[in-house]
Amino acid sequence: MPRPLAPTYQDRRWELPPDAVVHHGTIDDAVRLLTGRTVTALTGAGVSTDSGIPDYRSPDSPKRAPMTYQQFVADEAFRRHYWARNHVGWQVVHRTEPNAGHRALARLEDRRVLRGVITQNVDLLHEDAGSRHVIDLHGRYDRVICLQCGRVISRAHLAERLDALNPGFVESVLDDGATVADIETAPDADAVIEQTSHFVPAPCEFCGGVLKPEIVYFGENVPRERVQRAYALVDDADALLVAGTSLTVMSGLRFVRHAAKADKPVVIVNRGETRGDPLATIKVDDGVTETLVALADRL
Ligand SMILES: [Zn+2]
Repeated sequence: MPRPLAPTYQDRRWELPPDAVVHHGTIDDAVRLLTGRTVTALTGAGVSTDSGIPDYRSPDSPKRAPMTYQQFVADEAFRRHYWARNHVGWQVVHRTEPNAGHRALARLEDRRVLRGVITQNVDLLHEDAGSRHVIDLHGRYDRVICLQCGRVISRAHLAERLDALNPGFVESVLDDGATVADIETAPDADAVIEQTSHFVPAPCEFCGGVLKPEIVYFGENVPRERVQRAYALVDDADALLVAGTSLTVMSGLRFVRHAAKADKPVVIVNRGETRGDPLATIKVDDGVTETLVALADRL
């Protein structure tokens, strides 16, 4: 099934305070710290990059203006453009598979070391890898919600309706010279396509309302009930393992603050600085997949 990419993103710049102290450590240090402890994981785009999903915050990612919830709701032309790109993206974008890092976390859950995963990704790769207790903090790519009546439908069903409303659209985009490889993917399954003015988006078939991917966009809040379940999952473990996220958005960072406040050990695995580094008991600045595999082998 085609995968869209991570959802909530923004260009907000942050810098660690100049006097911030970061406790850098190795995988060995992380193993020593986590041995004998139960763990909850918090993951971001970095766990999926080895599955071929680009991390839009990495330095070499294409620059894109983030789509906001307000834009989506307020502007019909914007929505038409959005859905046209999203529809092509849905049809052609990567058929991705979980990687060894996702599988490492599933193994740790099987062995009851890991209590569960809170993920900022919408790609469902943790579920595909066999993780059972996953909180999809920012939603999931395979669902669409009606902003008026609140009904949730499957993205696959919507794809059929969009095909019926726009016969030949996807083919025409691809015939125009674009190939799957050419289509630049964006953090929400968009493929960058210019000719969208004739695209007909589908309204909710129950009430005629506006449909939106069930993904938390910039400018939207994570539903309160989901946040509470995520806090409970952090509380449920002895330690927090953060992997593959720069923690730029508060929706993830707050769980690190929560764990640190409760004096729980926090291990952050990420290539490059993260906004949570000063809160980490150990920061491992190393490849996410390799580190998760090493942890699963040794914990
Ligand atoms: Zn509706």
